[in-house]
Amino acid sequence: MPVENNNKNKLKPSRVKQFGGSFLILLTTLLLLNFIVPSFLGPRLPQVPYSDFIVQVQAGKVERAMVGSDRIEYVLKNQTSDGKAAEQVLTTTPVALDLDLPKILREHNVEFAAPAPDPNGWLGTLLSWVAPPLIFFGIWGFLMNRQGGGPAALTVGKSKARISSDGSTGVKFTDVAGVDEAKVELEEIVDFLKNADKYTRLGAKIPKGALLVGPPGTGKTLLARAIAGEAAVPFFSISGSEFIELFVGVGAARVRDLFEQAKKQAPCIVFIDELDALGKSRGGAGGFVGGNDEREQTLNQLLTEMDGFDANTGVIIIAATNRPEVLDPALRRPGRFDRQVVVDRPDKIGREAILKVHARNVKLAEDVNLATIAIRTPGFAGADLANLVNEAALLAARQNRQAVIMADFNEAIERLVAGLEKRSRVLNETEKKTVAYHEVGHAIIGALMPGAGKVEKISVVPRGVGALGYTIQMPEEDRFLMVEDEIRGRIATLLGGRSAEEVVFGKVSTGASDDIQKATDLAERAITIYGMSDKLGPVAFEKIQQQFIEGYGNPRRSISPQVAEEIDREVKQTLDNAHHIALSILQHNRTLLEETAQELLQQEILEGVKLRERLQQAAAPEELNEWLRTGKLSEDRPLLQTLLV
Ligand code: ADP
Ligand code: MG
Ligand code: ZN
Repeated sequence: MPVENNNKNKLKPSRVKQFGGSFLILLTTLLLLNFIVPSFLGPRLPQVPYSDFIVQVQAGKVERAMVGSDRIEYVLKNQTSDGKAAEQVLTTTPVALDLDLPKILREHNVEFAAPAPDPNGWLGTLLSWVAPPLIFFGIWGFLMNRQGGGPAALTVGKSKARISSDGSTGVKFTDVAGVDEAKVELEEIVDFLKNADKYTRLGAKIPKGALLVGPPGTGKTLLARAIAGEAAVPFFSISGSEFIELFVGVGAARVRDLFEQAKKQAPCIVFIDELDALGKSRGGAGGFVGGNDEREQTLNQLLTEMDGFDANTGVIIIAATNRPEVLDPALRRPGRFDRQVVVDRPDKIGREAILKVHARNVKLAEDVNLATIAIRTPGFAGADLANLVNEAALLAARQNRQAVIMADFNEAIERLVAGLEKRSRVLNETEKKTVAYHEVGHAIIGALMPGAGKVEKISVVPRGVGALGYTIQMPEEDRFLMVEDEIRGRIATLLGGRSAEEVVFGKVSTGASDDIQKATDLAERAITIYGMSDKLGPVAFEKIQQQFIEGYGNPRRSISPQVAEEIDREVKQTLDNAHHIALSILQHNRTLLEETAQELLQQEILEGVKLRERLQQAAAPEELNEWLRTGKLSEDRPLLQTLLV
């Protein structure tokens, strides 16, 4: 029977969670039984309205009655003459508190009695007293257990750091490539710990903390694991988000516990991954919301702990974040994370080194050239490259190849840049034609514009989330600066697709929205951040976020309405000019546009020599050179955008 089973569970000295869970089930079962069982006990008797019952009593038809508090069972006098017919038993539900009933029954000579106490009723009575506190404790136990993670509620404040002794992560510095500067700094830290007296003898203070800063996927966590693998000291690792829990104060307790443990094991390394989860600026946006109390307390505790131990106790804290700009300035004060180690996206040589690391366990064919792959993957971080190698290996395996060939890598790059091919998406003839002209428009303008690299491929096979067709333009080298004419050229290239539609069909489709968005963003950046407008001059109108937080100020420099208007006008002017130039180039190369689009429609994909020969025929109109004035330099992120859709 289920009741017994549950009782056994309850008696077992089990964990709180199990206790809470099984107890709730037990309660529910008991309550249900209490209601269900009685209704199965007796046969179902005909139910009569109470008033009819009274009438029957008054008419002298009732022989005897069993009067319960919520049910009356009664037997009618035997009315048949032979006296053999069965007694007729009826029931009724009494109107609450009819105090006259005994009197009426007596008056009409009805034999009556109250039923013996219901054998099932005690359960309900008992439960109504016992259940509420038990339910409360059950839920409480469940919550405590859920947020504690440990075997019982008492471990809430314990830190959840994973401790690994030397080498147990299995990662070495040789597994990390392309981030040599960061490696040198971290090797130094490992040395501090291994040979502490070498430094303290001369009176040098060992740094307390190092902060690894860099975009996602550049290998920060990997580096930390490599330190654990290299250092012959205990290594505590925990993620910033693991401090924060439901209850205020838990995080702070965990920080305290973590440092207590670490000090006992010194010399050792404490690694806090994703520090921004708890180290967000206290004064920043959202700081007024009460929900941040917990994070703030945790952060304060961390700051206190970092101040509280002597530099030479041999505890070194390493933290990683990809959002240094949101960190509380107090964290970066000297004496806390006084070393910042930048882990940046790798350059061409770094990418080749990372590819080598990840290709160690992959069978490569003769024709695979990792250096070429590195050239074709600007802006890829370590994680992207690891993914690329794996993707290529998967493709080769699917084709049952003996080794991974270069074509697999090329297809894998395209997948990562543009998404999966979607041949299942069938376009109708008009759509296909529109897409073909659109892409050739991008390609012709892209081929004539400076800086952005050569157009490698045009395709009208849908890919990824939204691309119906695409053009891939690969930079020939890593670029970290964009010159003014390159930005203009870029904007014109982005608008080239739409312009081709205009030239050929005289109307535009919805397919250019993404291009327009990117072009507008770029134009706005050129004017408000890079100071490329002659009218507005070298004034920055946007503050980047870091300055905003450190300066405790407004995100946008306050500008007058006139200047705002001027900015809008300049952005529009830049876009209009680029649009105009794109239109005139395409009109100038009308036959080339026509022929290339037709060929693309037949072949679906144009690349390699065939494409290059065609695009070499593109000629620039007079006004182009005049428009592309060189001059001002601006800083830009590495050119990540190689895809036009
Ligand atoms: P982050 O913590 O900076 O976001 P990870 O360290 O988690 O990045 O990197 C994810 C994965 O990408 C690693 O496990 C590794 O396989 C690969 N990777 C990233 N950077 C590198 C690198 N510099 N060298 C080798 N592999 C890398
Ligand atoms: Mg990480
Ligand atoms: Zn486009």
